[in-house]
Amino acid sequence: MREDNCIFCKIANGEIPSKTLYEDDKFRVILDLGPATKGHALILPKDHYADLLELPEESAGDVMKLAKKMVLKFKEKLGCEGFNLVQNNGDLAGQTVFHFHLHLIPRYRADGQTIGWKPQEVSGEELEEIKNQIVG
Ligand code: AMP
Ligand code: ZN
Repeated sequence: MREDNCIFCKIANGEIPSKTLYEDDKFRVILDLGPATKGHALILPKDHYADLLELPEESAGDVMKLAKKMVLKFKEKLGCEGFNLVQNNGDLAGQTVFHFHLHLIPRYRADGQTIGWKPQEVSGEELEEIKNQIVG
């Protein structure tokens, strides 16, 4: 299940070289070419799924297990003190490569990065309304 013009299909399957940190029959973990911090990596499934909604449930579980394994290595080898997992879905959400990938971003004291959002004000009534909209 590969897509012809997908760069991450080609990287994940070794047709385009990458700085590979880990590989098994289902996944490849590579260093991001435009890293937020030292060691910024991407988990790529070898099969093509555009985003999280296309990723099979079992693979979603495998991705999280692999993320844990990798960030433990980052702590041990790079000495990061924390890490962010980032996963963008849809161009509105900042996705630029439409082959599922999970960003693993090691964090260091004073690394100069801010990964987050601007908190908005919301009332208790609004939260209740939103809750009901989703689960009501
Ligand atoms: P996103 O914005 O979540 O789709 O992230 C795409 C990420 O892929 C960015 O962080 C890019 O720096 C990275 N990227 C794009 N092309 C390559 C490539 N050929 N090798 C490694 N990383 C790449
Ligand atoms: Zn692909």
